[in-house]
Amino acid sequence: MSISPKEQLQQLIVLQNLDDEIAEHKQLLADIPIQLDSGRAELEEKKKIFSNAKEELDALQKERKDIELAVQGENDHMAKAKTKLPAVKTNREYTAILSEVDAIKEKVSGLEDKELDIMEILEEKQKEVPGIEKICKEEDARFQEYKAKKDAELDRMKQELGVLVTKREAVGGQLDRVIMQRYEKVAGSRDGRAVVLLQGSICQGCFQQILPQMAIDVKVGESIQQCSNCIRFLYWEEVPEAATPK
Ligand SMILES: [Zn+2]
Repeated sequence: MSISPKEQLQQLIVLQNLDDEIAEHKQLLADIPIQLDSGRAELEEKKKIFSNAKEELDALQKERKDIELAVQGENDHMAKAKTKLPAVKTNREYTAILSEVDAIKEKVSGLEDKELDIMEILEEKQKEVPGIEKICKEEDARFQEYKAKKDAELDRMKQELGVLVTKREAVGGQLDRVIMQRYEKVAGSRDGRAVVLLQGSICQGCFQQILPQMAIDVKVGESIQQCSNCIRFLYWEEVPEAATPK
């Protein structure tokens, strides 16, 4: 089965368009996981802020409890010291117990001051945490929505890519094997652009002028021509005259 050079050229143009679309799909298929990773990383960061805030809150609560226990311990200690008072026989003993009690009172007062400071911080943190949690939940919901959209896009892209590849095989199969091999070679060395438009006598692949005879042949379109500079296949497209505004 052999088709005319003119038809082959038409098929080459179709092939180029298909390859452009395939490349675009492949790019998107590669981009989507990256976009998802970056969205996920952003979400993780917000979750980390939330868990840090919660940890801080827990630590403060624990610290407060520890202080309360320490205060209780000191108070027990003080009560025990006081029970010794009725049995005291000397002034010295009496003074010693009183100064012990005073020292404990001072310690307790210091602990209570510290507890107040912590309670103040706690109150503020407790106000902050629900806000952070809310942002986190909203962000999570937004990401899940984004992910569902991107997953659907990924599926659609894969399906479309399958269709494009099948079409490409069909078009490639109609082309002369030598032409097809030449196309693959040019596409491989020219970043996927193997078939380009000729404008005037300028190749739109390398923007060099081609020989006048070749330009004529390209315009006639009955043969397959390749730019002598960049070896891309050339085709001519009749540009419809632009409507001149009055
Ligand atoms: Zn060229």
